[in-house]
Amino acid sequence: MLEEHGVVEKYDVVVIGGGINGVGIATDASGRGLRVLLCEKDDLAQHTSSSSSKLIHGGLRYLEQGAFRLVHESLAEREVLLMKAPHLVHPMRFVLPHQPHLRPAWLIRIGLFCYDYLSRRKTLAKSRFIRFDPKTNPLKAEIVQGFEYADCCVDDARLVVLNAVQARENGADILTATKCIAAERKAGYWLVRLENNKKQIVEVKCKALINAAGPWVAKVIEDQIKENSPYSLRLVQGSHIILPQIYTENHAFIFQNIDQRVIFAIPYLNKYTLIGTTDREYFADPDHVEIHKDETLYLLDVSNRYFRKQHEADQVIHSFSGLRALADDAHLQPSTITRDYKITLSIDQDRQLPLFSIFGGKLTTYRKLSEQVLTQLGEFFPQMGPSWTEHQVLPGAEQWNGVEDLVYQICQQLPQISPQLAKRWALSYGTRIWQILHGASNSIELGAMLAPDLYAAEVDYLVAYEWAKNSEDILWRRTKLGLQFGPVEIARLDHYLASLSSETEQN
Ligand SMILES: Cc1cc2nc3c(=O)[nH]c(=O)nc-3n(C[C@H](O)[C@H](O)[C@H](O)COP(=O)(O)OP(=O)(O)OC[C@H]3O[C@@H](n4cnc5c(N)ncnc54)[C@H](O)[C@@H]3O)c2cc1C
Repeated sequence: MLEEHGVVEKYDVVVIGGGINGVGIATDASGRGLRVLLCEKDDLAQHTSSSSSKLIHGGLRYLEQGAFRLVHESLAEREVLLMKAPHLVHPMRFVLPHQPHLRPAWLIRIGLFCYDYLSRRKTLAKSRFIRFDPKTNPLKAEIVQGFEYADCCVDDARLVVLNAVQARENGADILTATKCIAAERKAGYWLVRLENNKKQIVEVKCKALINAAGPWVAKVIEDQIKENSPYSLRLVQGSHIILPQIYTENHAFIFQNIDQRVIFAIPYLNKYTLIGTTDREYFADPDHVEIHKDETLYLLDVSNRYFRKQHEADQVIHSFSGLRALADDAHLQPSTITRDYKITLSIDQDRQLPLFSIFGGKLTTYRKLSEQVLTQLGEFFPQMGPSWTEHQVLPGAEQWNGVEDLVYQICQQLPQISPQLAKRWALSYGTRIWQILHGASNSIELGAMLAPDLYAAEVDYLVAYEWAKNSEDILWRRTKLGLQFGPVEIARLDHYLASLSSETEQN
């Protein structure tokens, strides 16, 4: 039983989980005038939402599974997200090599026709048949033709963080390193107990509870709320490997594997190629998911089967794994379980104090999923505002005139910095970069250079405004500099962060 002393705050909605679905719901709800608190036990996007293939896509292969609702919604969201976050979401061409012994050409043409016409396209190009130029084709000589279609890529972790920034600007409280350890319906309110990483406990009251705990969604229902989960959960691990750049063109490949799965090869951060993903049933602790050596070999095998350039396991620069948290639909193969999301609702005997739980979902559909949760919440909060997220940009996309324009402006103001750094800033922060630069007119005013192209001013901003607490948060989620830095740079960053927190403690 929760004790009622020490209740410090009263909210309309408490959201458990700071992945894309939790922050999406918190942003939407706070923008409609609801008082929102979001708690995340680790860092924002620390789990599935930073381990994705980083695509905003309809999911061509879901057509084969008959998931037309999901594909239709996802295709439409591409255009919405391109408008909302043009600094984070970018169109990308996908090349699908055709080999007759895999899916027949007529089947692929039908799939691409549906992909082109299932939803309105404003900026993305139509699919087409292509022949590869033997002089530039990075694929093996016998692969001579294929199809090309358009989807988008995204910086997944930054999409999460910018939603959290928007939620905070709407008045939401965002607590990272804070776990929901219990929640109980009382007379007229939920009492939610939160514990931070210093073992401090606080209790808050709210009228509605949202469980967006991803791979922990069923555990939260059973262990923290003491109810039965409406679905049993299947955790399906998906892993990626990062290889040195295999080809220089700025398009992705989608390969069909002999097991009927598809594998992407995606240009990544100018220097690398990202290869993924796998589908592997997962039964261990979701906090400690990491790539299995069979997955590395599987991905290398597909890459080596298609590309001329061959790679061995010791050439893998980095890898990461995430868990799809899917509502069990009794499919035997992990790859065929539906990727569509389910939103469940439980209420008390007076039809009050709702608990919404989110099963599954995609980065691509987070905004629509959030809207659906808010539509259902409307029954409990009749005074709340209408839907608003479709036409509102995310932080950094205000006064947006394109990446080139912003890079130009940054370089004009700070001629000493490299164009690559200006581009990284423009793509990460959009027009919020001016908040980081704070009127600086030369690089000395940005403070110490803690590592190549990482100034203290950027770190200060990430700590003050983006909930970064340690070097991992900064190097792997707020930026992707972790791929470039070695132990010396990381130690300098850790040292700087320690000096910042001792300064805060003294003040
Ligand atoms: C390999 C892979 C590739 C993918 N590729 C794509 C893609 O290209 N495009 C796409 O659209 N989708 C993709 N997806 C799907 C997408 O990544 C997920 O649907 C999405 O990230 C799920 O977000 P979430 O918020 O539900 O879960 P998560 O991101 O896991 O967030 C849940 C959060 O809840 C927190 N939490 C848990 N319990 C508690 C508690 N008690 N108190 C406080 N916090 C708690 C966790 O720490 C976690 O951060 C991919 C998924 C995988 C696994």
